[in-house]
Amino acid sequence: MKKKEINSARVPVFRDSGFELYDADTTAGAFKKETNNEREPELYIYSRYRNPTVVAAEEELMKLEKCEWVLLTQSGMSAVDTALSVFQRGKDTRPWLFFTEIYGGTISFIESVLKKRRGLDIHSFNPVKEAYDLIEFEEVIKKLRPELVYLETISNPLLIVADVAGVVRIAGKYGVKVLVDNTFATPYLFKPLDFGANIVIHSATKYFSGHGNLTAGVICGNDKEIMRAAIEYRKFVGHMLSPDDAYRLTTQIKSFELRFVRQCENAIRLASWLNEVPVIEKVWFPGLKDHATQDEAVKLFGKKYFGAMITFGFAGKNGDEKKKRRDNFIRNVSEKIKLIPTLGDPYTILIPVEAVWGAKYPEPGMIRLSIGFENFDELERTISKALKIF
Ligand code: PLP
Repeated sequence: MKKKEINSARVPVFRDSGFELYDADTTAGAFKKETNNEREPELYIYSRYRNPTVVAAEEELMKLEKCEWVLLTQSGMSAVDTALSVFQRGKDTRPWLFFTEIYGGTISFIESVLKKRRGLDIHSFNPVKEAYDLIEFEEVIKKLRPELVYLETISNPLLIVADVAGVVRIAGKYGVKVLVDNTFATPYLFKPLDFGANIVIHSATKYFSGHGNLTAGVICGNDKEIMRAAIEYRKFVGHMLSPDDAYRLTTQIKSFELRFVRQCENAIRLASWLNEVPVIEKVWFPGLKDHATQDEAVKLFGKKYFGAMITFGFAGKNGDEKKKRRDNFIRNVSEKIKLIPTLGDPYTILIPVEAVWGAKYPEPGMIRLSIGFENFDELERTISKALKIF
C-alpha cells in the first residue's frame, strides 16, 4: 500500500478505533488539548471521542443548518439525551418545561429516564384546541422559571406548528434556554437558531439520511460553552456516531434539499386532494386553511411548503366503521404504501395513529402518512384506487 496521499475528493471512512500518537509527549499533548473540547481536534485520539469522518459529516451539516457547531450522535434519542445533559447539574438542576406534543419516544425518555431514574423536576405545557397559546406560555414561564423549554417545531401526529420565534422571544425575557427538535420542519423550512434558540436537534434517521437505512442524531448550536459540554457528554456516555454511518450520511445529505422539496410538493398536492374526498372526515396538514396552526406555519415557513407529513381520519357512523375503513385502506394500498413506523423515507409510508399512540389520540380512523418523493400521479392513483373501494 502506497503511503502517499491518494487524490480522492471525498473524506474516507476512518475506521480506526484509536489513532497513532507516536511518543509520550505527543500523547500527553493530545490528551491535554482534548479537554478543551474544540470542534475539531488537532490530533485524533480515539473514535469515541472524535473521528475525522464524523467531523467531515458534521461540517456538511453545518452548511445546511448555517451554524457554527454540529455534533453527530448514533440516534435522534442520543441527540436528545446529549442536548439535555448540558443543563443537568445534579441537585442544582432547575425545573424543565416540555411541550406535550413531542415524539412519543422523547415522552418515554422523560418518564422513564429523566423523572424516574434521574429524579428531575419536569413540567409540561399543553396546547389548547390543537394550538399553543403563547400568552398562557408566558404565564407558566413567569411562575415556574424553568431552566429550559423543549419543543418540536411541527408536532406528531397532529402537525401542530409551534411559533418557535414567539417561544424564544418570551423565554429570552426570563433567561430560559430553548431546545427545539426540528426533525419534521428541517432547516429547509425553518432554522430555529436564527431566531435565538439555543440548541436544535434532529433525528437524522429521517429526512437528512432520507432512505430509511440509517439511524443518527444531530445537535446544532452556536454557543461554544453549550456545545463543548455536549461534546464532553457524548464522549463519556459513548453516544458517538460510527464512521461508516457518518460516511453514508455525508453521501445521502447531498440530495436532502432535492428530496425534501419534492416531498413537500407531493404533500401539499395530496393534502388538498384528500381534503375533498367525502369518505375522509378530516385532514391535518399545516398548509390547509382549516389547520389550527396555519398562521404559525405561514409565519415560520412562508406560503409555499409546509413539510411532508399528513394525518387524516376516516368518516364513519361509529368507531367500528372508521376502523374498518382504515384497515381496508391499509390493505388496499399495501403494495405501494407500506406500514413502516418511521418517516422521511423515499416513498410514502404510513402508520395507524391509534395503534401507535393508544389513548393519546384514540380516534380509530386516523392514519399518518410520511410523503415520499415518488411520482405524484402514481401516488394519487394508488390512494384514489384504495378509496374508491369504499
Ligand atoms: N425526534 C423526532 C421528532 C422523532 O420523530 C424521532 C423518531 O421518530 C426522534 C426524535 C428519535 O429519533 P431516532 O429514532 O433517530 O432515535
